[in-house]
Amino acid sequence: MRKRKVLIEWDVRNEIDNAIMERMQTAADLCLNCENVKIPCAVTVCLCDDAMIADINRQYRGIDRSTDVLSFPSVNYPEGKTAGDSEALLRQEYDDEYDAAFLGDLFISVPHLIAQAQEYGHTVKREAVYLLVHGICHLMGYDHIEEADKERMRAMEEKILAAASVSREEHDAADDQLLLSKAREAMTRSYSPYSSYPVGAALHSTDGRIFTGCNVENASFGLTNCAERTAVFKAVSEGVRSFDMLAIAAKTKAWPCGACRQVLNEFAPDLRILVTWDDHVEEKTLKELLPEGFGPHSMEH
Ligand SMILES: [Zn+2]
Repeated sequence: MRKRKVLIEWDVRNEIDNAIMERMQTAADLCLNCENVKIPCAVTVCLCDDAMIADINRQYRGIDRSTDVLSFPSVNYPEGKTAGDSEALLRQEYDDEYDAAFLGDLFISVPHLIAQAQEYGHTVKREAVYLLVHGICHLMGYDHIEEADKERMRAMEEKILAAASVSREEHDAADDQLLLSKAREAMTRSYSPYSSYPVGAALHSTDGRIFTGCNVENASFGLTNCAERTAVFKAVSEGVRSFDMLAIAAKTKAWPCGACRQVLNEFAPDLRILVTWDDHVEEKTLKELLPEGFGPHSMEH
């Protein structure tokens, strides 16, 4: 059995699925792994509603509105330091009640979380895990006020979220279904008057967002852009470069063309790819589609 590294004391005022809370526990453990904290830690997580989080926001931060997550670290990290390089400090926060170092309190608004998941087009589970990871990163000393700190925090979050998705044994069927439906929806926006072969793609980033794309043709045929590359370029131009899953929808089975395989390999050599046509779904990895691919690592010497 996996050793519990983070003891979460839940205060559930607004219920969410048990499976989601289990996934949050796993993600919490991975926070300490990724940050390389060697001693057991504890946090409290209050799952509440918008009214309560707005109240706390007003009381403790003077901001009179609801939000997704609030964190109150108990450790006073020195400038530029985080939990991973502050073991002595963590030991000072040792709490008998928990038999662990107490990192602080988190509040997560469940209605806010659900609305946000809908807005970003991903599952409630993913959003819940993301908010918990974000909150624990704050409790571990990260913040996002200065640009440089923001980048550090973002990198740590990505690392934890990637670990959370790699370590899960079974792929999330709900996530697959959502991504497939986004690809089918994108297919309806295809501009393909010349080929009459519409294609839609939905690309899932490791931080839980979905970027869609369709094929965009041109009277000068060679200028056509495929659905997959449209999705990749949209994501990269929004600052997102790490992906774990791609779904493609077309009238027949349509694996990515050679150009798209190469572009996908630049950012996500370990990508899982799903294709769907009629009611069929097939799955392969990019490594299967592009064996011995030339990529960024090929130029390291
Ligand atoms: Zn292509």
